[in-house]
Amino acid sequence: MYAGIEAGGTKFNCIIAEDPQNILTETRIPTTTPHETLTNVIDFFLKEALSRNVTLKSLGIGSFGPLDLNKQSPHYGCITSTPKTAWQNVNIVKELEDRLHLPVELDTDVNAAALGELCWGAGQGWQNILYITIGTGIGGGAIIAGKPYHGLLHPEMGHIFLTQSSTKDNFKGVCPYHSHCFEGLASGPALKAQWGQDAALIESHHPAWDQEAFYIAQALSIYISILSPEIIILGGGVMQQTHLFPLIRTKVIELLNGYLQTPAILENIEHYIVPPGLGTQSGVLGAIALARSLDA
Ligand code: ADP
Ligand code: ZN
Repeated sequence: MYAGIEAGGTKFNCIIAEDPQNILTETRIPTTTPHETLTNVIDFFLKEALSRNVTLKSLGIGSFGPLDLNKQSPHYGCITSTPKTAWQNVNIVKELEDRLHLPVELDTDVNAAALGELCWGAGQGWQNILYITIGTGIGGGAIIAGKPYHGLLHPEMGHIFLTQSSTKDNFKGVCPYHSHCFEGLASGPALKAQWGQDAALIESHHPAWDQEAFYIAQALSIYISILSPEIIILGGGVMQQTHLFPLIRTKVIELLNGYLQTPAILENIEHYIVPPGLGTQSGVLGAIALARSLDA
């Protein structure tokens, strides 16, 4: 059995599992101070493993960030410049390795979700996939040639600059760093700030959704041009609005404007831009996939 954590700004989802068919137990622990949260996480794994008489082989963590993922760096395993100041410079890998005595593999929450989808979800059979979450924040994880991609730090796909929907639209966006990045314009909090109601409560025929689809389609057109993914998986709370999918697909085709001649986009886009195959479990099961990657 393996241990997995999806570490988020509001909750840590913890799981003991082998794969989606063999889940032993899972829980949600609220994100409070680092000490309290990590102590509760550790207690969960130790108590559950003991009472169920299982040995945990390794731990995978998909975490909010930004993170230092460079194994050569002295700060490897740290959460770096997060706006959640109590968590700045917390070395999540070291804390858990030391107290659980398990090998730990860390990646971004979105890379973990992408890996979960590659192993067991909508990405099965592909080698180059993209997972985007549109929720409290916006982020993207990429699997390139079968491996989670990091590069210099790790991608921050939510912070690309987009063209605003109309010149009359003077919404400034909610990102404290950029005035009109994807996250600032199209995250759940951006929808709430612009339209004055919780994204979950905005009716399906409201103009907010046409604009939202335009922003998402712009971002996807950019990712398609840069990475040429074989499939794009869209998760996160805002994508619970499933009527966004057809709007996004139509706008991606419009924006690409016939330049990319592939049946995957021109004829089968409903199989190219898709919801997660693992539902809301991509991240936490991806953490199990990360733990399993230590076996290889
Ligand atoms: P997080 O990003 O915090 O891990 P979620 O992916 O659930 O969690 O995203 C939460 C955001 O998604 C909130 O801003 C919320 O308003 C929005 N959201 C949640 N459910 C819905 C829904 N059914 N429709 C639209 N927006 C939603
Ligand atoms: Zn930004």
